[in-house]
Amino acid sequence: MSEWQQAWPSEVGVRTVRELFRTAYDAEPDGVWASPGRVNLIGEHTDYNGGLCLPIALPHRTYVAVSARSDGRVRMTTDIGDEVWEGAISELAPGQVSGWVAYCGGPAWALREAGFEVPGFDLAVASCVPLGAGLSSSAAVECAVGLALAQLAGQRLDTDDDSRARLAALCVRAENEVAGAPTGGMDQAASLRTTAGHALLLDCRDGSVEQVRFDLASDGLELLVIDTRASHSLADGQYGARRAACESAARILGVATLREVTDLDAALAQLDDEEVRRRVRHVVTEIARVTEFVAVAEAGDWTAAGELMDASHESLRDDYEVSCLELDVVVTAARAAGALGARMTGGGFGGSAIALVRSEDAASIARAVREASGSRGLPVPDVHQATPSEPGGCLVEP
Ligand code: ADP
Ligand code: MG
Repeated sequence: MSEWQQAWPSEVGVRTVRELFRTAYDAEPDGVWASPGRVNLIGEHTDYNGGLCLPIALPHRTYVAVSARSDGRVRMTTDIGDEVWEGAISELAPGQVSGWVAYCGGPAWALREAGFEVPGFDLAVASCVPLGAGLSSSAAVECAVGLALAQLAGQRLDTDDDSRARLAALCVRAENEVAGAPTGGMDQAASLRTTAGHALLLDCRDGSVEQVRFDLASDGLELLVIDTRASHSLADGQYGARRAACESAARILGVATLREVTDLDAALAQLDDEEVRRRVRHVVTEIARVTEFVAVAEAGDWTAAGELMDASHESLRDDYEVSCLELDVVVTAARAAGALGARMTGGGFGGSAIALVRSEDAASIARAVREASGSRGLPVPDVHQATPSEPGGCLVEP
């Protein structure tokens, strides 16, 4: 067995999604678009606190093949199920659709709300972004669909960072209101506003971005993404509870968001609840770690970068309490096998971890991680190599 789960090369993605389109609708699509999943290097649970995060776009992308229709009808099909959803475009709205239909159709509603004249359409979706692995298959599908439908409505939203930021915001709206998932803005920004070879320093206070060169290969390093294949059902409720704790702490502290906390000790002294104090400590120290990570990464000090990843994991595990056994096992195993640093990434309670490793150790660390999970009776993780890749765009012009 290969050590790695490979992303599809573009040609494979385009061919796969075109075939799906042809099989479903017995016609050729007008065009093909794609948008990537993401992995966050550091800065977890900071986006909804107006903080900083540092995602990269993965080479794993979601591909959509789309044709416009003149009758206001919509048909959608995806590789994660085999039915075709059919309805009027007006049915793609909050409260009217759920599950994958809401994720695929949500951007049509958000674009229409923003004044885009989105026509009816036929859509096929095929993806190599692992589903529910904390690598944002949800934003990948929203952003790919959003790029396609904006273009069919006569306005490309991939021409510059302003238009990409606009589409990212619409896709956040689609996920929040149509799919009903209260996520922050990191995932869609990562899928649309990154550039190859760079991490995206996203300031969630004002939506501004900076491209941070992230070239591990020339320093003999690699980033492994370890999908634990675990997903705990408490994830949704716990996410909401963490957000609520942060918002109530901000109210007590008299700040708009925890980003505004400049003196951590003084803030902690103002909070009575021990659990809330730990939540605040995570958010404030994690935002500081993002700034430090950017500085050491730019200086090529990967030992320091690895230490910051370790510190981030401990903070998420102990103060924010969003890790779980599967994540802790792979993080510990990766470090023991020689990783410079390792941490859970994404929302937590399952999903993926990342490890910063020397290239020559990558295969043995991947093996060690699989063995550690397997020997504990946990699912054997999938291990991916992540290089900072292209953001979403049009692959076959309509
Ligand atoms: P993730 O961490 O992968 O983003 P989420 O729970 O946020 O996990 O999103 C997963 C959901 O996104 C799926 O349940 C599905 O509704 C939608 N989705 C992801 N990929 C696809 C796809 N290829 N086709 C249709 N829907 C998809
Ligand atoms: Mg998601």
